[in-house]
Amino acid sequence: MPQEIFALFEGSYSVDVTKKFIPFDASVHNKADRPASLFIYVQPFLLKTANELLVLDTGLGYNNDNGDMVLHQNIINAGYNPSDVTKVLMTHLHYDHSGGMVYNRNGKLELSFPNAEYVVQRGEWETAYSNTSKSYRTEIFDVLQRSGQLVLIDGDGVLTPEISYELTGGHCEFHQVFHIKTNDNYYFFGGDILPEPQQLLKKFAAKYDFDGRKALELRLVYGDKAVEKNWICLFYHSDNKAIARVKKNEVGFYFEDIYF
Ligand SMILES: [Zn+2]
Repeated sequence: MPQEIFALFEGSYSVDVTKKFIPFDASVHNKADRPASLFIYVQPFLLKTANELLVLDTGLGYNNDNGDMVLHQNIINAGYNPSDVTKVLMTHLHYDHSGGMVYNRNGKLELSFPNAEYVVQRGEWETAYSNTSKSYRTEIFDVLQRSGQLVLIDGDGVLTPEISYELTGGHCEFHQVFHIKTNDNYYFFGGDILPEPQQLLKKFAAKYDFDGRKALELRLVYGDKAVEKNWICLFYHSDNKAIARVKKNEVGFYFEDIYF
């Protein structure tokens, strides 16, 4: 069976109070030189279902040394073309998830996926325009707004027979998660509700969440569901396991790699 899920690793970054994402390579850089910073990995996903070619969140949209978008190059390396993407599913619109929705082509911002519908939770779209946080860059959303390719969804629901969504809140007020079925597998994309496997092991409320207690509760709820239903979980900010099944024993959660 051909591989249907790909982690599109964009890089690791430090981010401080300015909300700027600065590339961080542990072999060259020193964490001590970046005080009061959070260190994160960023990886969108590409998923081929029976009917769609999906991109799940879009990363920062940074270019490689050749001036090509890392996200585009990763999709090409996976054997697909960015113009073949049918839907871009967005958990929320913070910059580390939305920067790659558009790219700079000869000085002009254009959609990174010219033939895709971009699926966004309505409350998150409104927040992006009304919230003054530096996490939202409206120049990205203006391009999408004008394209006619924006699809706004509300609350929980079914987008297609393969794709459903749930409004979770927690990380931001209108964060959503996606459930996606292929012929053989069931995928769960939790965005920043389940950003890395380790977050199921350390039970803390995180400062960067809009509602830290709710985010913590939701992590554990989805962790348990993932075990029970044998979901394949996609971890957007993981530094080691991007794609894994979640298991649980007497000690707690553990993770099982997926092999293709
Ligand atoms: Zn994030």
